[in-house]
Amino acid sequence: MRRIFLFTLLAACALLTPVAGAAASTGGTTPDPVPGESSGGAGYGTPLVTLPGKPQLVSQRLANKTINYNQHGALVIRINRSKGANAAVTLAIARSGAKTKTLSLGRLATNRTQTIQLPILAAGSYRLTLNVYGSSARETVRGGVLSLVVKPKSVPKPTPKPPTPSPPAPSSGVFPVRGAYTFGGAGARFGAGRTGHTHEGQDVVGDSGLPIVAPLAGEIRYVDYQASGAGRYIILRADNGWDMMFAHCQYASAAVKVGQRVKAGDRLCLLGSTGDATGPHLHFELWPHGWRDSPGTSPIDPLPQLKKWASN
Ligand SMILES: [Zn+2]
Repeated sequence: MRRIFLFTLLAACALLTPVAGAAASTGGTTPDPVPGESSGGAGYGTPLVTLPGKPQLVSQRLANKTINYNQHGALVIRINRSKGANAAVTLAIARSGAKTKTLSLGRLATNRTQTIQLPILAAGSYRLTLNVYGSSARETVRGGVLSLVVKPKSVPKPTPKPPTPSPPAPSSGVFPVRGAYTFGGAGARFGAGRTGHTHEGQDVVGDSGLPIVAPLAGEIRYVDYQASGAGRYIILRADNGWDMMFAHCQYASAAVKVGQRVKAGDRLCLLGSTGDATGPHLHFELWPHGWRDSPGTSPIDPLPQLKKWASN
């Protein structure tokens, strides 16, 4: 038992950051032994001399009752002793849910206030108890319990991933226009210049009244109208997370309602020229990370995907 205790103290000493003067043995007096320390001298015929005077723990407090992970706690204590210049001190550290550890603080100078740095402790709630040793068990002084909280290591927030330029294309799906079509000229392409902005989709030019269908299964998010731009338009949220816009539908041709589930191939509306359109066409946009009402989102060139659907 004694051997185990000694081992614990030695291990504990290694953890402790010494504070100047705190552990120094002063004067010519052989000090009283720290409990657990080998008092080797006595075994060799030297009488063990102990310091006179019962030590008093005059004050004890923690510099901070709550510290962050990886911060040292600090004890501010004062021990008075009428005749001795130091006293042996141990600190019992009880962590909730764990075994109590006892650290030796060595011999602390008496009759002055001093700050003792504590070792780095894992996150948790601790109860700390000081023991100040006199020359006999009778003179041992135990301080009241001090509570210390070590806050857990803060987990850095993951930086939001920038949207990937093009998610993998689904292997299935159908072309959104039923009937003869073309992809128009340069002005019909994604990124083509427009007054004040660039073209955010691909135009599919065809005859007025051709059925426009859902390329993928999903749910209808919007059935709406924008007089100066998209005209009658529909937003479909596909089950893979893509949002798709179908613009310039014929007036009153919407075959779906907001919230409605659709399968690939289900009719959405009829090809038209409502809104800002010079002739009948489907204006198609593909937003892999949600339509413009989603934060940090942007559309991608849908032409490769349209061609893929066209070949299915
Ligand atoms: Zn367009």
